[in-house]
Amino acid sequence: MWAVVNMSNNLRKQLKTGILVLIYLIGCSSVIWFLPDGLSRYFVTIEAHSAAKRWQVRVLSLLEDSDKAFATATLSDAEKLALDHFAISSDAFQVTLFDQKGIAFYTSGLVQAPDITDSPFFLHKVSHGKPVQTYESVTVAEIENFDLDHLGENYSSTESRLIITDYIPILHDGKFKGVLETFLDVTDQVNVNKIRITSAAVIVFALISLTILIAWHASRTYQARVAAFNSAQREKERSVLERDLLRSKEVQLLSQLSEWMQSSKSMAELFRITTTILEQLLPESSGSIYIYSNSRDVLEGSCSWNGAEHNTEIAPDDCWGLRRGRAYTYGLDDIHFSCSHNHFDDDSVYFCIPIIAHGDTIGLLHIDLHRTANNAAKIAELFELAQTCAEQISLAIANVRLRDELLSQSIRDPLTGLYNRRHFFDVARNQIAVAERNKETFALASFDVDHFKKFNDNHGHDAGDMVLRAVAEALLSEFEGNDYAFRVGGEEFSILLDAVTEEGALMRMEKLRKMIENIAVRYGSKQLPRITISAGIAMYPSDGNLPQSLMRSADDALYSAKSAGRNQVVKCSQLKDDKMFDEEDIGTLFESSQVS
Ligand code: GH3
Ligand code: MG
Ligand code: MG
Repeated sequence: MWAVVNMSNNLRKQLKTGILVLIYLIGCSSVIWFLPDGLSRYFVTIEAHSAAKRWQVRVLSLLEDSDKAFATATLSDAEKLALDHFAISSDAFQVTLFDQKGIAFYTSGLVQAPDITDSPFFLHKVSHGKPVQTYESVTVAEIENFDLDHLGENYSSTESRLIITDYIPILHDGKFKGVLETFLDVTDQVNVNKIRITSAAVIVFALISLTILIAWHASRTYQARVAAFNSAQREKERSVLERDLLRSKEVQLLSQLSEWMQSSKSMAELFRITTTILEQLLPESSGSIYIYSNSRDVLEGSCSWNGAEHNTEIAPDDCWGLRRGRAYTYGLDDIHFSCSHNHFDDDSVYFCIPIIAHGDTIGLLHIDLHRTANNAAKIAELFELAQTCAEQISLAIANVRLRDELLSQSIRDPLTGLYNRRHFFDVARNQIAVAERNKETFALASFDVDHFKKFNDNHGHDAGDMVLRAVAEALLSEFEGNDYAFRVGGEEFSILLDAVTEEGALMRMEKLRKMIENIAVRYGSKQLPRITISAGIAMYPSDGNLPQSLMRSADDALYSAKSAGRNQVVKCSQLKDDKMFDEEDIGTLFESSQVS
């Protein structure tokens, strides 16, 4: 639409300029065509008149007594001779004298000149002392007394000549005495004048045209410059505006990144948030985040965005950023070495920015500009942005780690790393809710190390701690997945066994009991004696439908196992059976599973 409007505007402008140029050329041509004729005629008439006036003086000076000559209309022979000589030597091809009545009494021509007595110009003008001049184009044949010699041989009698006739009144003391008539052939003079005037006019118009052209060109150049300047200015303003918009979007996304990161509860969540926001914040680049493993010998690939692929793990030495301990930009300096974790072997620019939290390097932010134009200013902007992102990420990781640590401290036992008693009640409550909803059953098994006080007394508390850690390891190796293991007291442990029958729980606890019985722990140079455990099993919901009641039931079974001689597992259901036997007065009987 705009293109069509612009085109019609341009067309209109060009049409206007074309019409103006045409008018100018027509004007110039008309002036050049008409001006020389009029002007040259004007010049020659003036010249002819002044020549006639000069000749008047000459003629009068050649007459011995001019008053008498004009009054009597007669000339002496000497005067005639002098006038003949004058006519020959002057430019006029015929000179004639008239008396005050207009009767010709001398002519330099061969034929007698006609009188002008009755001519209107004589009666109304010349006889009143006013000179008269005529200008006419006549053929050679029509001109009387015309001197043909100056035309050369190749003249034609039909050729037109421009003739000026001047009638100069002869006055004496203000009184009209007679008339001097001169004929002058001004054809050549007019032609020469025409050529001169035409040339001058052409030169003047050429100069005017040139000036107009130069002025027009200068104006066009100036307008073009102004337009270019304005367009550059507009472009500059537009790019500044775009930059500002981009910046404000970046700031907004950065603040969102920070806000979301601060509220993320786990590293997995943190990486999910980071990739989503970095995809928008750095749309023209791709990247990955690597985080140091707990052992700190490798960095694990944690997440990537915009199509990047991260390595499963990289060594700290694989990255120049990590080796040099500061952000590394590849591809800008003359000397650069590619990091071995980088996937591209071309010269595309990438950043490796160490993620530093509380003075410790905890990971690496790798940003690849493979898809970005290599514009130095753009790269500098992206580098600044990437550094800000790395700072935000480091703060968020430190935050999540601190949160994890605090949570772990609040729910885990520091000696064994198992969940503590408080967490047991939280997990048990959840498990009960799930089991209730799904109409499922699960088991709680509690066990206690036998005669541990004595063990401590005999081998010391540190040895006791080592044994407790070994028990916890055995527990974790046996129960994993959906089962949870807890250290609920000094040497007391509990396990929540998910979706299991009482018999299944018994079998698994028997297995654990045997496992612990076989644990051999070395303390210094000596081998510590083996330990045993006594365990009790309670089932949800038959032995309790609350964490406390369930635990109490499991403890009852555990005490029963202790009472029955330790190193055995007792089910709650057995206690009920025993109670029934008591009631029937069969005597006390503890049925237990005992290992030889
Ligand atoms: P029983 O077979 O009846 O359970 O005998 P016991 O000696 O194990 O029973 P008791 O409950 O009297 O003793 C528990 C002992 O466990 C007392 C304490 O020295 C020991 N104990 C508790 N917590 C720790 C601990 O964190 N480390 C060590 N080394 N020993 C502990
Ligand atoms: Mg004990
Ligand atoms: Mg105990």
